[in-house]
Amino acid sequence: MTERSLNSEAQWLKGVGPKVAPLFAKLGLYTVGDVLYHLPRRYEDRTKIPPIKMIRPGQHVTIRGNLRSVSSRPISGGRVIVKAIVDDPTGTVALTWFNQPWIARKLDQYKGEVVAYGLAKEAEFGCEISAPEYELIEDEEDAADFARIIPVYPSTEGLVQKILRRAARAAVEGYLGYAVDPLPPSILKAEMLRPLRWSLREIHEPASDANRLEARKRLVFEEFFYLQVSLAMKRAETQQELGIAFPIQALKEGVLALRHSGIAESPNVETPKNRKAALVVKERRSSHLFEADQEAKREGIPIWDQIHKMLPFELTGAQRRVIEEIWSDMEQPHPMNRLVQGDVGSGKTAVAACTMLAAVRSGYQAALMAPTEILAEQHFATFGKLFEPLGIEVALLVGKQNSRERKKALQLTESGQAKIAIGTHAIIQEGVTFDRLGLAVVDEQHRFGVLQRAALRQKGLGNPDVLVMTATPIPRTLTMTLYGDLELSVIDELPPGRRSIKTHYKPGANRTTVYEGVRKLVEEGRQAYFVCPMVSESEKMQAQAATDLAYRLESGVFKDLRVGLLHGQMKSSEKEDVMNRFRRHELDILVSTTVIEVGVDVPNASVMVIEDANRFGLSQLHQLRGRVGRGDHQSYCILIADARNEDARERMDTMVETTDGFEIAEVDLRLRGPGELAGTAQSGNRDFKIADLVQDGKLLEVARQAALKLIEKDPTLVLPENQGILAKVQERRSQTAVITVS
Ligand code: ADP
Ligand code: MG
Repeated sequence: MTERSLNSEAQWLKGVGPKVAPLFAKLGLYTVGDVLYHLPRRYEDRTKIPPIKMIRPGQHVTIRGNLRSVSSRPISGGRVIVKAIVDDPTGTVALTWFNQPWIARKLDQYKGEVVAYGLAKEAEFGCEISAPEYELIEDEEDAADFARIIPVYPSTEGLVQKILRRAARAAVEGYLGYAVDPLPPSILKAEMLRPLRWSLREIHEPASDANRLEARKRLVFEEFFYLQVSLAMKRAETQQELGIAFPIQALKEGVLALRHSGIAESPNVETPKNRKAALVVKERRSSHLFEADQEAKREGIPIWDQIHKMLPFELTGAQRRVIEEIWSDMEQPHPMNRLVQGDVGSGKTAVAACTMLAAVRSGYQAALMAPTEILAEQHFATFGKLFEPLGIEVALLVGKQNSRERKKALQLTESGQAKIAIGTHAIIQEGVTFDRLGLAVVDEQHRFGVLQRAALRQKGLGNPDVLVMTATPIPRTLTMTLYGDLELSVIDELPPGRRSIKTHYKPGANRTTVYEGVRKLVEEGRQAYFVCPMVSESEKMQAQAATDLAYRLESGVFKDLRVGLLHGQMKSSEKEDVMNRFRRHELDILVSTTVIEVGVDVPNASVMVIEDANRFGLSQLHQLRGRVGRGDHQSYCILIADARNEDARERMDTMVETTDGFEIAEVDLRLRGPGELAGTAQSGNRDFKIADLVQDGKLLEVARQAALKLIEKDPTLVLPENQGILAKVQERRSQTAVITVS
């Protein structure tokens, strides 16, 4: 006999054996430990088995009774329906299975009691339960399974619950003693969590619902906790790396001179502050320092005053706060890793511009990468207007440039003549070099993959600061898991004077009225977007749909108006041309696919009609709607949809009721689940085994706080009591490629 441990093979467990082992392997259960952590997906509370006459349609019920008869009846297509009649002293119920003939064979020979669990439905005579899970009560052990809360495990074909339950029980009885709690008593106490052994027992064999919930809480906490510890460690590591210390204080005072930094008075004492100062000195001694100095002196104006002159509006309080948060990162001699979240229209571009100004005034270059050409060009135009009056040159790098334009742009960034570069992913291609890239900004970062962000960072001087911005409001729970290694800033205020967007939801039959409304607004001088229905994932078909819609409108109802068309299959120059005409108000109506989803900013456009809106996800609708409501005019969003099911209805209602992106994201998360929501670029759902991001959001927050506290005290987990945690974190890291945004 080999020594017992959680690593013992699962096949030695009672009821498993070599015949069942392959089925266990299918579920990923190789060891006893695997079995212990194969947790029930739900429970049946058989302490409450109702008499059969009490069951009502629509309830999930457990029934127990005597099997009276079994029949199978062929139906079309060579299929069969198996029907079993079960009764108890109070009544009779039918159990039905569709196309599972072997059930009839199995039940045929059986006379005795059964229990079954499933959804009760109305039937011809009384109730029936279709496709129930069932068990035969053959011996005492089966009977022991009654009158308690029964775990139901995820299973696989050919593996019955009874075997899984037996194995779990054997693991709990025989091996729990070998389970070592990775969490030290201090954490259990602080977070009021149950010990591991207690929790594993109660999750498999709960004595009560309350116990089961407490056990689950402990295990969910643990799952979140290791991830959060891992993320916190990663953040702590980044904070150890050396990066650029931008002289923000000097910029604020309007002078960039060594005498203001007080470095001369810092002797060789190793304090964090001195180390930082020394880095500043090192930076400034570099070849370009002189230039930076000159630049700031020439300007000689405190940076906030420069910003005030640069922007055509006053920043909101939230924008100012976020800029300060970013600057304080930039000031640190470590690379910045910060995420700015701000709902559509909250003014992220201006925030980016201000932080980029600071980089430029410190003698560095700054780059902004946007996901589409339309957006890059729009930013290029905006930044040109802001920066050129200050004598700061801006370069554009997009894929469609001809070789002459490209060469010129490359020369500008390489020589450092252009202090600012705006581009699409063309900016991270080979051959693009920067003279001194100190700050890299990624706009609408959810559109990019991890590798693209890393590539942008690579272009920097040493370890540049990285700022990622996103308008996709994701629930805080997801932010904490997907971006837990980033610092977070939230722009939680919209610029003043914005009128809220009025959203209406209209069935397709009301299209004519909608068109009349649009016409009225156009006659008042406004512009409109029409978003064509989402017909498929294919860009080509999507483009076709937009073309059809545009044709329908311009040759029909809007014959006398100026209608333009925008879709992903058009040449860049065509796209640009259409966008420019729309911006200059040479078009009244722009028919588009979702290519206008991100970033596009035309304040005079005050109405958006979304065709077949129920085909879009909530966050996409929210993004689309964000294209209007950007000017002083009352704006409208009309969702044309025939919501056929609950989900669609709830989505439409949510859009009508709120414009708060975070609220919308919460609903989206609930309706679609985290995998969908996170989008493709983020590889989606973290494979939490037990935890549920929707349901366990609060616990995630608790786990995060606990992790931060732990890492603050013991950044690299060297304390003896934290060795269990360290092992778990390492195990996690080796199993899952941790998503990082660096
Ligand atoms: P987003 O956060 O969606 O990227 P933008 O940066 O495109 O938003 O800004 C949306 C609009 O609001 C732009 O027209 C911009 O000029 C304007 N804007 C930004 N900040 C302010 C402000 N503080 N006051 C007034 N208008 C602002
Ligand atoms: Mg934007």
